[in-house]
Amino acid sequence: MKTRFSCIRVLIFGLAVAGVVWRVSAADALPAVVPALPGGVVKPGLTPIKPDAAARTAATKPGVVAVDRNAQVVILCYHRFVEKIRFPGTEIRPAEFEAQMQILKDRGITVIGMQDFLAWKRSEKSIPPRCAIITFDDGWETQYSVAWPILKKFAYPLTVFVYTEGVRGGSLGGGGAITWEQLAEMRDEGVDIEAHSATHQDLREGHAVMVALAAAKRSKKKLTGEEYVQWLQQEVVGCKEVLEQKLALKVNCYAVPFGHYNESIKQLAQQSGYEALFTVNGQVLMIDSPTAALGRYAIEGGKPKGFEDALKMLAPSRGATAGVAEVAAVQLATLPAHGELLRSSPPLITADLTGLGGVDPDTVEMRLSSHGVVPLSYDPKTNSVAYHVTEKLPAGNYSVILSAKADGKKLETRWTFRIGKGGAPTAGKP
Ligand SMILES: [Zn+2]
Repeated sequence: MKTRFSCIRVLIFGLAVAGVVWRVSAADALPAVVPALPGGVVKPGLTPIKPDAAARTAATKPGVVAVDRNAQVVILCYHRFVEKIRFPGTEIRPAEFEAQMQILKDRGITVIGMQDFLAWKRSEKSIPPRCAIITFDDGWETQYSVAWPILKKFAYPLTVFVYTEGVRGGSLGGGGAITWEQLAEMRDEGVDIEAHSATHQDLREGHAVMVALAAAKRSKKKLTGEEYVQWLQQEVVGCKEVLEQKLALKVNCYAVPFGHYNESIKQLAQQSGYEALFTVNGQVLMIDSPTAALGRYAIEGGKPKGFEDALKMLAPSRGATAGVAEVAAVQLATLPAHGELLRSSPPLITADLTGLGGVDPDTVEMRLSSHGVVPLSYDPKTNSVAYHVTEKLPAGNYSVILSAKADGKKLETRWTFRIGKGGAPTAGKP
């Protein structure tokens, strides 16, 4: 906590000394400078400011920050860093990881810390337009010994999601596990350490879970009723208490094991002081993405496409967008609609091209988060394109990017929708 707090103070002081203000477009700046209370009421004591004066005012008015509401963030998730890949789903070679970190730098994607991201979502501070967050899951020794030194070379911040019984000395902390001393050293150097359950199992009721028995024995058991409630309490709240006590820090993030959870687990987490919950359903995160389901891209060794797909979901850098005209999603009739909450996976994702003007249907490309480019069909009668969803999409947040060419100019629009619980029961992957 101390580290986190003092880092923020140093940053704010630094910005004040340098007189630095994030560049924001006038339209973006206004809502943040004049925070509206629910119902459109303007907070007392703050008078509306002309948009063109917003950024300047933000610099002189303490406590009021011009926030770039159009910034976008992808969260990358890694596990183990080894030369010899045995489990491609969770391992990556150090050189490949380092190359990816370099790519972020080369493409002007700013790596930000998790707490800065959450502060941006609370409209308390701004972030650069295109950001990535690096997260490591589970607590492996190679995260400390191999990957963290690489991140230090780039001066990239890091969040580690730890399951407490998996730390060395815990009931699951076998070979390759990180130690509490290593975590403490990382904490002291500003690494954000957050929760990832106690024993890393599917949290939903009705699943057989491994439980500890007497004499260091374990057995698989389907927990119900009070027994389940107590076990869940350990997995969601107990792990937070262990981390906070052992490392004397504040934990406000929870990476759900395998990304599997439901409404009651979500409520328990929120009541226990977690500000944000994370899955592995990769997506581009916007300022209004629900903090109860923030999708991360799980990056797999030997599959550079996964990493590339994650970066492609970010809007092109504004410096390089001369040829790209952004079209607001509201101008385009889409299904699902922007911001729509669905009960289950949609059979189709469609967009009426009329809103894009006279585009050539052959130039239309659709990207879907966690899928990349998807195959489209065109219906000349309705002048619309459609992606026929072949496999049921799991519950979570989705971003769609549609691009096309018209008169040699590239047009692009993006929208998001959400599938609530009751989507496919097989959400996420380890
Ligand atoms: Zn994990």
